[in-house]
Amino acid sequence: MSQVFSSNPTSSNSASAPTPATLESPQDPSPCQACGACCASFRVSFYWAEAADLAPHWVEPLTPHLSCMAGTNRKSPRCEALAGELGREVACGIYEQRPSPCRELQAGDDKCLRARAAHGLPPLG
Ligand code: SF4
Ligand code: SF4
Repeated sequence: MSQVFSSNPTSSNSASAPTPATLESPQDPSPCQACGACCASFRVSFYWAEAADLAPHWVEPLTPHLSCMAGTNRKSPRCEALAGELGREVACGIYEQRPSPCRELQAGDDKCLRARAAHGLPPLG
């Protein structure tokens, strides 16, 4: 799958989305903890300055203004920050610094459902 999971450079970050970032919260029953499909389905691109605090190996340049998470600009993307086994137990390795596309994607939204379907996972109930 080669789709784009990008951010609007002018959009603000939201911490409310139950993205894979919630994986590090043991009391959070987020379905993302046993999924990770969206981290292995799209090119996760964003305005380059969002990654200013990330170690360089997490990020790949795309254009003079855009970067993406390392590993997501491939025919079969998988973010390098995604640890674990997809569909079983996964975690985001850069939870506090994840870029805006990861914060904006909502569990159960269209991209989530497409990603899960592409990895053979059922829709969220
Ligand atoms: S595809 Fe949906 S359920 Fe899976 S990790 Fe992403 S947001 Fe969570
Ligand atoms: S930075 Fe974290 S939440 Fe975003 S795609 Fe990578 S593993 Fe998933």
